[in-house]
Amino acid sequence: MSKVTVLSLLVEELKNGRIRVVDLTQPLGPDTPVIGLPPIFAQSPGLSMEVISKYDDKGPAWYWNTITLGEHTGTHFDAPVHWITGKDFASNTTDTIPVRQFVGAACVIDCSKETAVHENFLLTREHVQAWEGEHGRIQPGSWVLMRTDWSKRRGQEAFLNIKEDGPHSPGPHPDCVRFLAQERDVLGFGVETVGTDAGQAGGFDPPFPCHNIMHGNGKLGLASLNNLDQLPATGAVVIAAPLKIVNGSGSPLRVLALVPEA
Ligand code: MN
Repeated sequence: MSKVTVLSLLVEELKNGRIRVVDLTQPLGPDTPVIGLPPIFAQSPGLSMEVISKYDDKGPAWYWNTITLGEHTGTHFDAPVHWITGKDFASNTTDTIPVRQFVGAACVIDCSKETAVHENFLLTREHVQAWEGEHGRIQPGSWVLMRTDWSKRRGQEAFLNIKEDGPHSPGPHPDCVRFLAQERDVLGFGVETVGTDAGQAGGFDPPFPCHNIMHGNGKLGLASLNNLDQLPATGAVVIAAPLKIVNGSGSPLRVLALVPEA
């Protein structure tokens, strides 16, 4: 008789549906929205796809494509090396980050009501502390995921929400990022929007604080997540392993959550 272990129980619970696998990933295609930068900077291309062969003269029995895309396209992972503040850490690229960091508990902070009335909503330290009062202290090495329901916006225009003064979308306040990175030692910060920072964060102090401070503390990022409304505040486990791109700054990836049934 085989021994009962945590992993054999996990397999059993997956089989009987008491643990559900939730896909936190956007479909990745030519229409996938990509962040735009002011025109003085180089732009990251979205995905383009070209058929190599499809059961035809170029390959009678096989189908495959060539894809071209920026590392930070669609649901994607930000490595510490992505930002100048994280460039000197050891093991800071997609191929060298310890794989242990690709599996972590999720703390999901629901900001959907706030975002519905205020598209520039900023998550503050006080908001996180109120969440902790209800759900318990954020443990070191946890993902903090900001649920905004932004992923329910359809089409590039609504998702990127660019106005005359640039993009408008929710994100974390600089002080909140400092709190999570330095006082809670989180694994990283994940969002539903196109990047981990708020749309207007180019004008914050420091600019793009989630990139600046998270990566400056060796932490990770996840952007363009879906289905955060299917996660409990605590108790889910996130599996987010980027492609092993040599010297990569990030990568599209399939993000999965293991979620216990209520
Ligand atoms: Mn990114």
